[in-house]
Amino acid sequence: MKYFHVVILCISLFSCKNNEQQLSNSIMNSKIVVAHRGASGYLPEHTMEAKAMAYAMQPDYIEQDLVLSKDNVPVVIHDIHLDDVTNVAKLFPDRKRKDGRYYVIDFTFEEIQQLKVYERFDPKTGTQFYPKRFPKGKGNFRLHSLQQEIELIQGLNHTTGSTIGIYPEIKDPEFHHKEGKDIAKITLEILSAYGYTTKEDKCVFQCFDAKELERVRKELNSNLFLVQLIEFPEETKQLQHFATYADGIGPWYKQIVDKKIDGQWQFTSLVDDAHELGLKVHTYTLRADQLGDFGSFEEHINTVLKDAKVDGCFTDFPDKVLKVLQ
Ligand code: CA
Repeated sequence: MKYFHVVILCISLFSCKNNEQQLSNSIMNSKIVVAHRGASGYLPEHTMEAKAMAYAMQPDYIEQDLVLSKDNVPVVIHDIHLDDVTNVAKLFPDRKRKDGRYYVIDFTFEEIQQLKVYERFDPKTGTQFYPKRFPKGKGNFRLHSLQQEIELIQGLNHTTGSTIGIYPEIKDPEFHHKEGKDIAKITLEILSAYGYTTKEDKCVFQCFDAKELERVRKELNSNLFLVQLIEFPEETKQLQHFATYADGIGPWYKQIVDKKIDGQWQFTSLVDDAHELGLKVHTYTLRADQLGDFGSFEEHINTVLKDAKVDGCFTDFPDKVLKVLQ
């Protein structure tokens, strides 16, 4: 009986250690796949349905874009505006600002939950952005908070035994500051309450605003894995500075894959330069229905993830990227 207990203890200690090892290894050593706004190639972005579907595809991380409501709830939504993914104009016609747009920050979370979410469209014309995606206006989708999404993912981690992480992005912190709100501080507090405080906790914190991300590390003293998103060529010259507070960068793939010469893709030095400074590279966004100059999605995935030697990518189609990687 005693021997039996010792064996069980050893097995559990071993598997516990193994899990820890896996956790820290996954972001450090293998290519990670981030479900961009959930399985957004298949269901309206940032809905719980898109997140549950993404979860079932077993990516490494599921992404949350965050904007604060009037009552300081971090809402999972890509833009500071509501009118390109919801029926806000129909439900609250008088609540637009002078520029004709409806702002998340002008609505309470209770009001926001009354809105129906549609596949992304142009608010001026009503035309769906990706024509082959989920039919606009069909179904019954809603917006939700960061807390609600964490509870979905942590709950599924509990029931399935997987350890899928979260990858939150605070949107436009400068706009929030102007509105008298500190989105970074509020988000970090919620993450901490749900157990995300260190680089081992399967939470990557991302932001385009370099000043704010540096503040997250140096002023708000976060120990999370931080990724500096970049989109402009001049930002690639600031890598050394980014390395003083961030663990990785998140560039657009066109900042990495240059052009095709004699059938061969040429690459910029960005990935090598970042790696020399110890920065991981997670590139955005791989879409099966937006191939650019690539002949197929498989070519796109292989060129960016394998040939360009990045450490991970954001994709609207996690199942397809995972299949090629396997
Ligand atoms: Ca994002």
